[in-house]
Amino acid sequence: MTNIVSTRMLILGSGPAGMTAAIYAARAGIAPVVVQGIQPGGQLTTTTDVENYPGFRDVIQGPWLMEEMQAQAEHVGAKMVWDHISSVDLSRRPFVVKGDGGTDYHADTMVIATGAQARWLGLPSEEHMKNRGVSACATCDGFFFRGKKVAVIGGGNTAVEEAIYMTNHSQDVTLIHRRDSLRAEKILQDRLFANPHIKVIWNAEVAQFLSGGEPEALTGLELRDTRTGALSTIDVEGGFVAIGHKPATELFASQLNLDEDGYIQVEVGTTRTNIPGVFACGDVMDKVYRQAVTAAGTGCMAALDAEKFLAEMEFEALAAE
Ligand code: FAD
Ligand code: NAP
Repeated sequence: MTNIVSTRMLILGSGPAGMTAAIYAARAGIAPVVVQGIQPGGQLTTTTDVENYPGFRDVIQGPWLMEEMQAQAEHVGAKMVWDHISSVDLSRRPFVVKGDGGTDYHADTMVIATGAQARWLGLPSEEHMKNRGVSACATCDGFFFRGKKVAVIGGGNTAVEEAIYMTNHSQDVTLIHRRDSLRAEKILQDRLFANPHIKVIWNAEVAQFLSGGEPEALTGLELRDTRTGALSTIDVEGGFVAIGHKPATELFASQLNLDEDGYIQVEVGTTRTNIPGVFACGDVMDKVYRQAVTAAGTGCMAALDAEKFLAEMEFEALAAE
């Protein structure tokens, strides 16, 4: 028999966006239900040191920060559910959402905070060296490579921005791109080429991330020339993979307006999607900033937007009686 959970607010995702939405909604007396998904706590649970989340003078750990957010959300009345959503029907309200665990969720409002995942090259050595010199976020981890040689892999806006950003920390930044021209906007390319601390290696892909030492750390990259197949190596201590992100929006593709890269579109200055009562926050609707604090900020906005929607809906229902 199907288990049915009815709620005034269903939050999909338990990263900083979902947890912040939960804290605000719970404090407003809404008793939200948070579906945590297969990555409870979200992307920050995959990293170690976090130095840029406000409020902590000392370095904190990503998994710890997310445990604290969850504890705070539960403390004020949010209900956590360990489930993964496999289908949503946004054509009628209450919205109907199906979980893999056999539960149907009926929700008056929905906050989508399903995040995004960095795309990786898919090499075994890349997987092995994550958090040991290989990262997908220069803004997050660049600080740890102060004064070291680093490489950024990719040729789009993100890669170019990350290469430029890394010159705040390093005088020796190499951009590695698989073709002989960049996809990035011209203005970013101009800045990149004008920067004396960045060199570009064209027509090259990473064949392997090289490591050594104790504790094991990144020592270099083995590169393959994409035209000739010839192998070469460069010495770097930091490797930033910047080949794009994939927002977790497959569930909503035919129901919500997405942009050309698959991110949920919201009304400017709000978290409102094209369906009244459905709100989106965090990395699932933000391809520019992608930070824990911006995800938390838009999570707060989503809870406030949803709370206002509920109040209006409930007022109209009372008036109609
Ligand atoms: P996410 O954290 O991506 O959470 C998404 C949530 O949605 C997860 O709980 C997942 O289980 C859930 N979900 C997805 N699909 C479903 C589904 N179908 N059903 C139910 N649930 C679902 N930012 C910083 O500010 N500082 C840092 O130092 C920093 N370091 C980082 C290091 C790494 C290695 C990475 C990968 C990212 C880092 N970031 C950092 C970025 C930061 O983690 C993200 O910007 C932030 O986590 C986005 O939060 P979010 O809540 O939008 O989504
Ligand atoms: P992107 O535009 O999709 O670029 C990805 C880059 O990675 C491309 O250069 C691609 O090479 C390369 N790449 C992909 N797979 C690869 C692989 N397996 N091996 C090696 N290289 C690979 O992604 P993005 O740069 O993250 O940008 C995503 C979206 O966000 C874009 O719309 C972008 O404009 C936007 N964005 C905007 C800003 C801004 O406005 N300031 C900043 C960041 C991002 P090819 O070129 O050969 O395909």
